[in-house]
Amino acid sequence: MINSMKRYFTAKLFLISIILLVNMFSTSLSHADQAICTHVLDGDTIIVLYDGKEEKVRLLGVNTPEITGFNKSGEYLGEEAKRFTIKMIHGKKVNIVFDNKKTDMYGRLLAYIYLEDGTFLNAEIIKQGYGYAQKGFLHKYLNEFIKFEQEAKRSKLGLWAKKTKTKKTRKYVASKNSTVFHNSNCGHAKQIKSYNLIIFETRKEAAESGRRPCKSCRP
Ligand SMILES: [Zn+2]
Repeated sequence: MINSMKRYFTAKLFLISIILLVNMFSTSLSHADQAICTHVLDGDTIIVLYDGKEEKVRLLGVNTPEITGFNKSGEYLGEEAKRFTIKMIHGKKVNIVFDNKKTDMYGRLLAYIYLEDGTFLNAEIIKQGYGYAQKGFLHKYLNEFIKFEQEAKRSKLGLWAKKTKTKKTRKYVASKNSTVFHNSNCGHAKQIKSYNLIIFETRKEAAESGRRPCKSCRP
């Protein structure tokens, strides 16, 4: 008697877990929304037609070099990174997935973009050496993206192909506890304890972490 009750409860528990799992799976699927990429602004910023309107999307977790624009000079491989993103998704249907924060301070959507064949664009850009892993804040794929960046470096892809020939790039740094970022050679920067130090590959990445430029080193 006790045994059969035990068996009954085990079976019931098993059934409940299956139902929960199926539910979790279907909500995670419906979470991926469809959009169409109508423009590519640079390697990591695109415009999509989503939910009936055009929205600017910042690809989450990846930074590509700057392209030449009004009042700014481009960075090494900026145009190539843009071309890569165009080749991958321009005019195509994509699936858009959000992390815990849906927009940034500029009102852009922050998203992971998947192609219809399942290719994960954010990751692909880093894997092919067209961008860096965004390290200034936590996101779901931080560790994976850092790993992809290291693999691209080892294989000398894209950005990493001619690293020895390019001029030493200026880096930007900040303390985890501060709202200011510096040139890495700033006196204030040198006082940041190593366990608090955040290094940004580009100025854009530093600014996008929500920090303002230091008034003395003016990065
Ligand atoms: Zn400074």
